[in-house]
Amino acid sequence: MDRRKFLQDSLLATGSILSTHNGSAQAVGPAATPGTVAPEEIAKARFPTDFLWGAATSAYQVEGAWNVDGKGESIWDRWAHSPGKIIGDCNGDVACDQYHRYKDDVALMKQLNLKSYRFSISWPRVLPGGTGPVNAKGLDYYKRLADALHAASIRPFCTLYHWDLPQALEDKGGWPNRDLANYFADYAGLMAKHLGDRITVWAPFNMPWYFLHHGYARGTHPPGRTNIDDFLRSLHTVGLAQGLAYRSLKASSSRATVGSAYSYEPTYGKTDRAADWDAAWRYHMLNNLFFLHASRHGDYPKAFAGEVPYEAMGFKPGDEKLLKVPLDWIGVHYYLRLAVSAAAKATQPASGTCNPDPLAQVRVDRYSDGPRTDGGFEIWPRGFYDMLMQLSRDYDHPIIEITETGGVFMDAPGADGQVHDQRRIDFYRGHLAEMSRAIRDGARVRAYHAWSLLDNFEWSDGFTARYGLTWVDFETQKRTVKDSGQWYGRVAAANQLNV
Ligand code: BGC
Ligand code: BGC
Repeated sequence: MDRRKFLQDSLLATGSILSTHNGSAQAVGPAATPGTVAPEEIAKARFPTDFLWGAATSAYQVEGAWNVDGKGESIWDRWAHSPGKIIGDCNGDVACDQYHRYKDDVALMKQLNLKSYRFSISWPRVLPGGTGPVNAKGLDYYKRLADALHAASIRPFCTLYHWDLPQALEDKGGWPNRDLANYFADYAGLMAKHLGDRITVWAPFNMPWYFLHHGYARGTHPPGRTNIDDFLRSLHTVGLAQGLAYRSLKASSSRATVGSAYSYEPTYGKTDRAADWDAAWRYHMLNNLFFLHASRHGDYPKAFAGEVPYEAMGFKPGDEKLLKVPLDWIGVHYYLRLAVSAAAKATQPASGTCNPDPLAQVRVDRYSDGPRTDGGFEIWPRGFYDMLMQLSRDYDHPIIEITETGGVFMDAPGADGQVHDQRRIDFYRGHLAEMSRAIRDGARVRAYHAWSLLDNFEWSDGFTARYGLTWVDFETQKRTVKDSGQWYGRVAAANQLNV
């Protein structure tokens, strides 16, 4: 089918036909004010009775204990210890110290009525060299964490890779080295073998396109390379790793279910020019669907500016069989929607644009029709609805887990010691109302994870961007549940939004 038509149709099917005004698309939705959701929608919102209300974190962002109990060095340890990489030259050495405070944090989750906790395993904590013998103390931490979660009736949701590659494997070439697919599958199998009695929900990679793009093409995340050939090879290694990990998880634990944690940014043509919708389709296929497509079809989307560069990616005969796996459910994050236009050639990031892709010849802009978070992202709950309906339609109504949604709001404790972050409440209320509408319209969403349980180490932004439902004082490690956390806890208990 014509690509532009395909993308437009799948967004149209969501009921959000886009009208373009002065080059900026506006969704015609139920909201009176752009970026907000009507009170009727909020009052109407309902969720399935067994809905899994949750929150997410990742190992490097919260655990700390970077060199404790035999943990190996990760590429993020190395990167954050190098001057000039992180705002304020800070690092995740201590972060939220969850490694030592997990019992308190699980108690906090229970207080918030959470039913699911999405965390990640630090690969170098359990396999300090990436391969070879298991570090029993590191593994034991995850056993204790999972046990504490079960005791609080909270489901453990485990991401295997949230960007903290063992430095030892970077020293062997990192993700461009095809061997890493096998090392990753071995690691996944070991985790399922040792933790499979406690953990049944596994996502191999958090935002695979994103971390490879930033690590190997843009160079803004470790290992900081800007080499398109490395980037292309790394994509295929991770495609294979996803397929192989699926198999080794299942082989080691009969109860394992395997899904994903992909980022998904609904994309719209910046104008109604066919070339812009074509570009939007390419960006969508690469950034949003690349690895999902690979798992379904055993190949990669024909969304590059030229042919799919199989040779440069190191694709071998038979690989199509390895890529193809029937994921049990699909995990997606939603942060923002994007306006895409055609670029004449590969462009480097310019100010005001984000994540331009050197392969797809696109220019990507953020919208600014709605209000913004303190991190500068437009708040657009409607995009969440569009995403859920598009994914449901294009992938035959899969079971969906929302792996992340959230925003930066910098509200700090006031004189009363409390954090009155009304904007975060409004943010979640709008997004959850749109999710409820999507569920009503047929999307099979079974879980939602707020990003994040705690303020934490926000990658290049260090400690300057707070995403938490809970305020963390990084000097004392004191946690204070924000107003938004209290509100979210009531939503989780009542299964509705007017609380
Ligand atoms: C990542 C998190 C990150 C969050 C906010 C997500 O895409 O998975 O690690 O903290 O975005 O930037
Ligand atoms: C940070 C990046 C980070 C990204 C994750 C941004 O806010 O600046 O360092 O990788 O969020 O989504």
